[in-house]
Amino acid sequence: VSRSRPYPVARLGIVGGGQLARMIVPEAARLGCETTVLDPTPESPGGVLAHRQLVGALDDAEALRALVEASDVTTFEIETVDTAILLELEAQGHRIVPSPSLLAVVQDKLLQKEKLHAAGIPTSPFQAVDAPDARTLADFGLPLVQKARRGGYDGRGVAVFKDVVVEERVLPVPSLVERFVDYRCELAVLVARGGGGEVRAWPAVEMVFDERANVLDLLLAPARIDAREAEEAHRVAVAAVEALDGVGVFGVELFLTRGGEVLVNEIAPRVHNSGHWTIEACRTNQFEQHVRAVVGLPLGEPLQHSAAAMVNLLGAEDAHGGVAIEGLDEALRQPGVAVHLYGKREVRPFRKMGHVTVTAEDRETAMALARAVSECVAIRGTEGA
Ligand code: ADP
Repeated sequence: VSRSRPYPVARLGIVGGGQLARMIVPEAARLGCETTVLDPTPESPGGVLAHRQLVGALDDAEALRALVEASDVTTFEIETVDTAILLELEAQGHRIVPSPSLLAVVQDKLLQKEKLHAAGIPTSPFQAVDAPDARTLADFGLPLVQKARRGGYDGRGVAVFKDVVVEERVLPVPSLVERFVDYRCELAVLVARGGGGEVRAWPAVEMVFDERANVLDLLLAPARIDAREAEEAHRVAVAAVEALDGVGVFGVELFLTRGGEVLVNEIAPRVHNSGHWTIEACRTNQFEQHVRAVVGLPLGEPLQHSAAAMVNLLGAEDAHGGVAIEGLDEALRQPGVAVHLYGKREVRPFRKMGHVTVTAEDRETAMALARAVSECVAIRGTEGA
């Protein structure tokens, strides 16, 4: 059935103006959508590209109201938003996708795991701990991982205890504890789901942890797993997003155990760092797909046409002040190297300043070049330590 669409096709609101918004905005524009970004910092990475930016805190009720009123549909690039305000705005008839009630579940690691578990999704065995102490954790048995239900404590949300529970390392906040997984590798599957329930997923990717210091997290697409494992990763990730009744793009982080089992670690209710490679290597990238899903357009074909490897460009460990990019010219001289800079004017140690995706005919070539690039590119600060 042919239907007619208005122009703009939709006015899209985005909560958060960071790098994810920066990559959503051009895809939305290409599909005929106008974007408004809400972010506390004027000229945010996404805000400078958007049709307009509202300056306001992400928990400011008036700012959120202004955003949803300026938009036909509002989505997120960050999940730590005040869901109470959003639930109220949704109840008043504003379209917010994915739904604030889904967000409320995902924000709380315990609620998220309970929901997945109830739907029969495989996860590491877990238990709620309201007031954690060494004794309670030891009773659960080692090795274990303690996770703060929300936000974390002193910037720490996860504590691993392998053979002894040290009281000082116990996070003193409502938590869950789960069995430590002796995994063969960490995988991620990006899943897109439309409002009508149609689902598309990209091939599973693998996080490679490199001994060499300056290669932090290298991502390989597709993962080095066999066909049965890939099929299982796909099945579990899709089932997880269906269990949440999610609409939009979701990053599903998975463990592949040494026994070949796939377990869900956690779900990000938004486009995800592990899907940036889809820009260069797939027919439809995660950002375009997210716009399609939340606006109500048909989903695109996620087909991967090139092998890819991705590395994040993080601020150097002593970087402060303005940005000094080393090695950019050398990186850009290499065929197949796509550099993305996020437009952040201030660098801090380990701040995500950009990423590089390398596409090649095969995965090993892409991986070797990505390593070389990440060794030659450094984001330093103009102020030093
Ligand atoms: P965050 O929200 O900080 O990303 P995660 O739950 O993803 O927290 O945990 C961070 C990292 O800790 C994971 O990427 C993984 O390497 C490790 N981890 C988390 N849970 C487990 C587990 N049950 N067993 C082993 N390692 C884990």
